[in-house]
Amino acid sequence: MQENAKNLSSLINNIPKNIVITTHRSPDGDAMGSSLALYHMLKKLNHQVNIITPNDYPDFLHWLPGNESVIIYEGNEEKANKITEHADIIFLLDFGNIYRIADFSDIVSKSTATKVLIDHHEDPDEDIADIIFSKPESSATAEIVYEIISEMNMKEYLNQDIATCLYVGIMTDTGSFKYPSTTAATHKIIAALIEAGANNSKIHELIHDTSSESRMKLLGYCLNEKLLVLMKNKSAIISLSSDELDRFNFKKGDTEGVVNYALAIEGIIFAAFVIEKDGVIKLSLRSKGEFRVNEIAKKYFSGGGHINAAGGVSSLNMNQTIEKLKDITNKYSKKLNNTKY
Ligand code: 5GP
Ligand code: MN
Repeated sequence: MQENAKNLSSLINNIPKNIVITTHRSPDGDAMGSSLALYHMLKKLNHQVNIITPNDYPDFLHWLPGNESVIIYEGNEEKANKITEHADIIFLLDFGNIYRIADFSDIVSKSTATKVLIDHHEDPDEDIADIIFSKPESSATAEIVYEIISEMNMKEYLNQDIATCLYVGIMTDTGSFKYPSTTAATHKIIAALIEAGANNSKIHELIHDTSSESRMKLLGYCLNEKLLVLMKNKSAIISLSSDELDRFNFKKGDTEGVVNYALAIEGIIFAAFVIEKDGVIKLSLRSKGEFRVNEIAKKYFSGGGHINAAGGVSSLNMNQTIEKLKDITNKYSKKLNNTKY
């Protein structure tokens, strides 16, 4: 950390540079919060900064300070490629495998800019960046961004916008400070962010209490009609087809958090949410305790993530994917039944 922070410091504390910040496809609160916090910080140092996300993200993140300046690669490829070609530095935030920025990865891989990775996922690609801040034990990438700011002695730059963005990143990736990744250090950082102007109560409201009526009805439908509980394997599955999404007027972000309801059932160790979107079957996996869903995601669904939260894709159709999940829970039955939490 110290050595990396020193290197980063000399990279950004000289002449103004052209900087691109990017983050993973389907950005979440930590992806956008950490990227925008870094954006505000680098702007204060007089750099030319652009955030380029591979695709769009949920409305409940659109209020974040600086959101209006974000460029979405999908649909703006020419503009984004031009900016990236001129970049001196590219920051890669909240992902460790280059495939996670989808179509944007070609131009980023080709670029000769100095690349800086800031991430908390396990096993980042070895050659992904020149400077690598990789801390899988951190609750959020936003937490690492705070530590880097602190290590570079730049806390004086921490204004309300930066504090707000970092708060959103940590809050969303810790499930509002309840996941095991949340430490005393996390809470100390959160205290510092509130002191720097983050309005904690308002932020929770803007993220969690801004749902549409159809989103709430979709959640009701998931729980009432689509929840499959496999108690003998301590597992639960919720699935949604694209027809069902259409019926509930689905908008990006509407199914965020649905998987956690399956995990909220007493005794459930492993929860899966399966969704069919734009012809692709995507999975969100969650677990309690020592059951490592990132290994399941990697082994069976070309994905990855953290021990208790991971994701991937399926090349099978919806029914076959559910059958595959059932087979997996049978295969891991013993492990699931012996997992302590
Ligand atoms: P979610 O289920 O919320 O989409 O993702 C849960 C966690 O798994 C997040 O940390 C996310 O970055 C990671 N993740 C989701 N999908 C993928 C994937 O396809 N590949 C990898 N490596 N990680 C993923
Ligand atoms: Mn994250």
